[in-house]
Amino acid sequence: MSRRYDWLIVGAGFTGAVVAERLARGLDQSVLVVDQRNHVGGNAHDRRDAGGRLIHPYGPHVFHTNSARIFDYLSQFTAWRPYAHRVQGQVDGRRVPLPFNLDSIETLFPAAMAERMTQALVKRFGFGARPSIHDLRQAGDDPDLRLLGDYVFDKVFAGYTAKQWGLPVEALDASVTARVPIAVSRDDRYFVDRHQAMPRDGYGALFERMLDHSNITVSLNTPMDQVGAGSWDRMVYCGALDDYFGRSVGALPYRSVRFDHQVVDVEDGLPVGTVNYPNDFDFTRITDFRHLTGEGGPTTATVTEYPMAHEAGVNDPYYPILTEASRTLAGQYREMAATLAGKVWFAGRLADFQYYNMDQAVGRALSLVEKSLAPAIARIAA
Ligand code: FAD
Ligand code: UDP
Repeated sequence: MSRRYDWLIVGAGFTGAVVAERLARGLDQSVLVVDQRNHVGGNAHDRRDAGGRLIHPYGPHVFHTNSARIFDYLSQFTAWRPYAHRVQGQVDGRRVPLPFNLDSIETLFPAAMAERMTQALVKRFGFGARPSIHDLRQAGDDPDLRLLGDYVFDKVFAGYTAKQWGLPVEALDASVTARVPIAVSRDDRYFVDRHQAMPRDGYGALFERMLDHSNITVSLNTPMDQVGAGSWDRMVYCGALDDYFGRSVGALPYRSVRFDHQVVDVEDGLPVGTVNYPNDFDFTRITDFRHLTGEGGPTTATVTEYPMAHEAGVNDPYYPILTEASRTLAGQYREMAATLAGKVWFAGRLADFQYYNMDQAVGRALSLVEKSLAPAIARIAA
């Protein structure tokens, strides 16, 4: 008779791996982790290319968090290399810092106008503030702020968002574009979180250490439907929410991406980690991995991202497309998920249908174990 596990975890990304680790090490549960891909790590997976350069096959993954709890938790499995990600945007033929900041204004506007815009920004929001593009466009009647708001909207957000999501900005949840604010300062870092660092030996090593426990069995190349129902008691599902229910009330919208990986001479690499192209080309951004990994050498690996429609079974669902309609549909699936309470739990960027960063996926997994799974285990034991 084949073995029976206390838990089946579907998906070996950050969410599934953290849940598995906490169940196995923290609560002494036996855990089978399956992933349909041939590696652990989910979209945060990294690997060495043919030339030995560390790359992120599913696009650039930069770790950042304000949570000491999440950073300390992950620090059990990795040392870190401090790294502040910097991004430039190609706007009107110039490369300027993103988030759009006071230096971006001075680069793109005549000096007198830039001075007025800066003064108006500081007066309205305060030096150091990070208002969203929506905040800026609703900042009142000051003509310089109006001009600036319209310019940044048109030149930084409108084109990029149309490419990235296949939708106009207005159709998307405002939280999506609010991820990238306007910086009323000269801070040119993409993130301002307290902790900004890359796993010193890569994400792969971090995941290996996290899942290295006698209570954990990992089975790769294993879609959920290949796992016998008799081999587990309870499940945590980290795949796409609508997939679990056979898309029975409609397909949730996800966006996919084609990642074009290249190797170039270092002289032809980028001056910062990523350059965004809001207005030109079919792609959104190019990333030069040597900045993220800190690795040297005469050549460097780059990845260019071409957003595209998601087709189930054809390409991967990378981004949940957050609109009013998709939130309603996700709500319907959540009601269906609730009927499985006590047997199956749903968590992660795909299963929660939420635009989580890695730290949020980790935080979600830690809370799930603490607040729901540990009490369920205690009830069974009682
Ligand atoms: P995933 O990593 O998607 O893992 C889910 C896993 O489930 C997958 O491996 C999948 O194969 C598996 N699976 C699904 N269905 C099944 C099934 N039926 N059977 C078996 N296995 C299944 N976050 C940051 O913090 N910083 C960044 O810089 C950053 N950059 C990103 C860039 C891109 C292009 C993308 C797409 C995301 C980025 N993220 C970034 C977000 C980050 O990838 C996610 O927060 C994180 O990977 C979520 O982890 P997860 O485990 O919830 O999901
Ligand atoms: N965005 C934009 N222009 C940019 C950068 C971001 O319009 O130069 C918008 C766009 O809608 C994008 C969102 O802000 O999808 C979030 O950007 P982020 O860089 O956080 O995206 P991710 O790294 O998650 O792909």
